[in-house]
Amino acid sequence: MNILVLNSGSSSLKFQIIATDMERIRGNADERLLRGEVQKIGGEASVTVQKSDGLKEKVTASLKDVPAALDFVIRWIASNNLGLKQISSVADIHAVGHRVVHGGEHFTESAIITNEVLKEIERCVELAPLHNPNSIKGILAAREVFGPKTPQVAVFDTAFHHALPEQSYLYAIPYDLYLRYRIRRYGFHGTSYRYVAHRYRLLRNLTRPQTNIVALHLGNGCSAAAIRGGYSFDTSMGMTPLEGLVMGTRSGDVDPAILSFIAAKEGLSLDEVETLLNNQSGLLGISGLTNDMRVLQGELTEHDNPRARLAIEIFCHRARKYIGAFLAVMGGADAIVFTGGIGENSSAIRARICEGFEWAGLSLDDDKNKNAVGHEAVISREDSRLAAYVIPTDEELLIARDTVRCILGEPHPT
Ligand code: ADP
Repeated sequence: MNILVLNSGSSSLKFQIIATDMERIRGNADERLLRGEVQKIGGEASVTVQKSDGLKEKVTASLKDVPAALDFVIRWIASNNLGLKQISSVADIHAVGHRVVHGGEHFTESAIITNEVLKEIERCVELAPLHNPNSIKGILAAREVFGPKTPQVAVFDTAFHHALPEQSYLYAIPYDLYLRYRIRRYGFHGTSYRYVAHRYRLLRNLTRPQTNIVALHLGNGCSAAAIRGGYSFDTSMGMTPLEGLVMGTRSGDVDPAILSFIAAKEGLSLDEVETLLNNQSGLLGISGLTNDMRVLQGELTEHDNPRARLAIEIFCHRARKYIGAFLAVMGGADAIVFTGGIGENSSAIRARICEGFEWAGLSLDDDKNKNAVGHEAVISREDSRLAAYVIPTDEELLIARDTVRCILGEPHPT
């Protein structure tokens, strides 16, 4: 089956087409036909597509909304000029898998999108006002473009964390507030954690119950997860993706009293302060330069920029703090796993984060660490009691596989 995987943002649409079925899943033989992105939807949008042979194409088009963008992309892919032999018409796309950020308490696994499921996703908008409306736009656009007969599946970022125990997911606020409004830790990046935990098991030839790792997803958004016995035991993101680690533009943990303090001092509403913590904080806020770790590292090495140094230092310190905390609450782990753009590519950040963890049995192999850029690798020494791995994430692959499994009624444990 050719599965279109969609990740719908506020003005962007990321997509991949992956050919997969149960046999290919079992044989790890899924085929990525192409990946691409539409940016600046709502105006003169740019559409880029990269085929599996590496060939890149780029066009611009006036695309007023997500349905227009999706319609354009599909027609372009199906047209002859892209030369993709597997897709010659819209009918050659057999199903659509959507990344949905928030599934609330309702969704503990991926689901075929029925009207009921869509209603539930709409109910979760209250919990994720910045994210879920975009997913809904993507789902409605796909319905419009493909019609009701093409199955669509929702894969939730929160689902993997449904196993969190109460002591991890409850905040120490009046319990009634949890009962009334479902205020709790949900956790995110779940599809990524599920994928890297699965890869880790395969690499080490372990079963799910033998999977005990602290995983760090360090991308634009950053989080950590304590995965004990193969399931999420604790995680750093909370009711929303704002809590926890320092991120590109998000603050991660702050004293909640700071919100009203900033509001009073700066004459801002609480909503505006929340926006500041989401969009103007993190690496960008501390450095005053950029949210991009690569640029910050360049500023540090080339210009010894003190604010870049500070941003990187605070970023690594917070990550170390979470690793330590998670090792404590899960009673130790067998490995630290790095993923996400920073985790997969930056050996310097990994080295800084792992520094001083000898007490926990971790010793990094400097050469292995330096050589591990964008591919799976062990980066700890052979005699390291606590291992360290780089495992590039592939959320889209998992979304495509779940889409197939949901449609065929096959089990797809989160
Ligand atoms: P997203 O969370 O949006 O999927 P990514 O996982 O692609 O983002 O991560 C983006 C982050 O990864 C950026 O901060 C970028 O600078 C960083 N990054 C990518 N490559 C490198 C690299 N070689 N060294 C350091 N940071 C990198």
